[in-house]
Amino acid sequence: MKEKPMASWKGSERHGEELLDCLTIIFKSAGCSWSKCRMCSYRHERYGEQSCEALLGHLRAQLTWILAEYNVADFRMVKIFTSGSFFDPVEVPPAFLDDIATTFRGKLVIAETRPEFIRDETLQPFIEKLDDGSWKMPLYCAVGLETSSDEIREKCIMKGFTFAEFKTAARVAHAAGAGIKAYLLHKPLFLTEKEALEDMKRSIRDAMEHAEIISMNPCTVQRRTELEFYWKRGAYRPPYIWSVLTLLEDSPVHMTCDPLGGGQKRGPHNCGKCDYELVKGIRDYSLNADRELVKALLETECDCRNEWEYVLSNEKPYCMPLTR
Ligand code: SF4
Ligand SMILES: [Zn+2]
Repeated sequence: MKEKPMASWKGSERHGEELLDCLTIIFKSAGCSWSKCRMCSYRHERYGEQSCEALLGHLRAQLTWILAEYNVADFRMVKIFTSGSFFDPVEVPPAFLDDIATTFRGKLVIAETRPEFIRDETLQPFIEKLDDGSWKMPLYCAVGLETSSDEIREKCIMKGFTFAEFKTAARVAHAAGAGIKAYLLHKPLFLTEKEALEDMKRSIRDAMEHAEIISMNPCTVQRRTELEFYWKRGAYRPPYIWSVLTLLEDSPVHMTCDPLGGGQKRGPHNCGKCDYELVKGIRDYSLNADRELVKALLETECDCRNEWEYVLSNEKPYCMPLTR
């Protein structure tokens, strides 16, 4: 059977004032070298121990499949994900970065990576091959910052890097001529609805000083994760869609948001009756940036709004002992 990426699809993405046709590709790679985040199941998607040559062969076969399946000329933007970090040389052999930059020359590329792999010596040659002068910033490094709070990132997510490290990576990217897209995680494990809301309000404001694009991911319960372990025992509930809308309305900058699993038990959800319309509205808002739409959605009448308000004022945090 022909090797192909884990997933790929065509779509539209808002970039500044434009809507761009976008190809999204999730390559199967050697896997995330951190691999510890409490909510992440992507890290399970990986090739086993491989020589660099074998890994390169797998990745090149996936790219060949993409080129047979899609017409590159149809897209102005390409989003690249792996099961970890695109710029991690152990996960993705540097020769493959050259292939990608050459294949997608002239496109706007958004590639996901942990901040420690944003290095001048990696980005410079990549941008050199990619850039044909079409874009002010031809590359955006997408980083799962998740929150600007080091405590929450460490205790609730176990992300393994600090906000200071993110800021350094953003400086390196900007100096190399690349932009930063920050992903924020709304409602990681252990936070109440209210704490999660406050955390995002703060994080959006902190992140926008260092990132040109901000995207918020309302948390979804993925399979085979620690988050799922707690969720199955009733110790975690994904965020209310009311909270997501509140954050979109409150954000000083336009924030994209694709509520994966929206309206389902494992994803951000309300009561089940109002979810479909609200999730659809959030997806529309990501593309049209129409604040009036978010305001109108927030005024939708549904009984579960009272429930959400009750939860915001009455939910109490669990507490872990500080000492042993
Ligand atoms: S969230 Fe990202 S950094 Fe964390 S384990 Fe998953 S792939 Fe690795
Ligand atoms: Zn409802």
